[in-house]
Amino acid sequence: TASCLDRIAATEPRLDALLHVAGEEALAQAKSMDAHGPDAKKPLWGVPVIIKDVLATVGMPTTCGSKILENFVPVYDADCVTRLKEAGAIILAKANMDEFAMGSSTENSAFKVTKNPWDVTRVPGGSSGGSAASVAAGQCFASIGTDTGGSIRQPASFCGIVGVKPSYGRVSRRGLIAYGSSLDQAGPMTRTVADAAEILQVIAGHDPKDSTSVDTPVPDYLKALNRGGSLKGLRLGMPEQYWGEGLSTEVDAACRSAVELAVSLGAQIVPVSLPHTEYAIATYYILAMAEASSNLARFDGVRYGRRSSQTQDLATMYTRSRSEGFGEEVMRRIMLGTYVLSAGYYDAYYRKAAQVRRLIRQDFLNALDKCDLICGPACPTTAFAIGENTADPLQMYLTDIFTISLNLSGLPGLSLPVGLGKDTGMPVGLQLFAGNMDEASLLSAAQTLE
Ligand code: GLN
Repeated sequence: TASCLDRIAATEPRLDALLHVAGEEALAQAKSMDAHGPDAKKPLWGVPVIIKDVLATVGMPTTCGSKILENFVPVYDADCVTRLKEAGAIILAKANMDEFAMGSSTENSAFKVTKNPWDVTRVPGGSSGGSAASVAAGQCFASIGTDTGGSIRQPASFCGIVGVKPSYGRVSRRGLIAYGSSLDQAGPMTRTVADAAEILQVIAGHDPKDSTSVDTPVPDYLKALNRGGSLKGLRLGMPEQYWGEGLSTEVDAACRSAVELAVSLGAQIVPVSLPHTEYAIATYYILAMAEASSNLARFDGVRYGRRSSQTQDLATMYTRSRSEGFGEEVMRRIMLGTYVLSAGYYDAYYRKAAQVRRLIRQDFLNALDKCDLICGPACPTTAFAIGENTADPLQMYLTDIFTISLNLSGLPGLSLPVGLGKDTGMPVGLQLFAGNMDEASLLSAAQTLE
């Protein structure tokens, strides 16, 4: 804990990855744990972990990167935070993020722009960019991010770390402040696959207080690892839509060499198709914005966070509090989400998108009939420059092309660092997708390729 706090002090002025550091409290906790000696029943005993600021932490500010929650301190912990604490982890800090997890670069945070530790002129990705940067810079051993449309896997890829989006329902969403409730999942961001397995083991599992949590046994992820370095018998699907147009040559090259490695270790390549990929961005952004507009209705200046001082009556209190509290991207999404849900447009947009979502999920299931895992690049490019995609929101949305379909399908996925791009020298991530609830296969194959 002390050495992580030293790393934070040394790197934070350049990175801006964190919104709150529990310095003294964390040290005191570590000291008292030390005094009582190691506890073998606690798998994360004394391990410093940083939590994305979208997850509720009791007694610690939880802002979602938004001014509307600037002074909000929750009265309960998110389920995954409770599980981490019970496992002996030390909650060291809260990580910066795009406001309400809406973004792909952490430039939408109301407080600061996090920089990529590999090159501080570039973004760390988003929305869990603070989490990714903190792990890559050695500020902690693991961070918990959330992934609605790629927010764990894309920043993991940009910062050269491992990121796992578990199956929908694998990790409880209680205490995860909702963006797109049918898409959101919390998951580990770590330096190694084994670390990701350790963390997932702790945070996964049924939560009776989250109605979307799945009541199915959690396998032993650590046992699934160390398969002796072989991928013999593994059928690895390569979807044509992920390996063609729009992919930068350096990402293509790094990912293909990882696939060659898989082949040399015994994997067999199976060409597959995810034919509805071209509709994924439109489908995702309709559904995510619709859900966001409904979820963010609760921030009304009454129940949580900021209330405008300029209020005369109830209506102006609502509108002023929201106008002052929400950033531009959040307001854009609330307006678009409200539009696609409105009478007269619901059938044309929301209902259609919900139908296409089924087709996208079916694409994955069909492909997984022919192979065990699907692989593709996590992102079309390596980390882009700060400011490069901020002028045009659509341009930013388009960078999510390879990550968002997975959330629409509900299946699990992982991003694994597979080297540096030969043009930019920045990290490249290869994604693996598996069948529902089969995180064990993902982790085992990824560790073999690591
Ligand atoms: N970039 C996507 C969005 O802005 C995904 C974000 C996320 O996964 N939270 O919606």
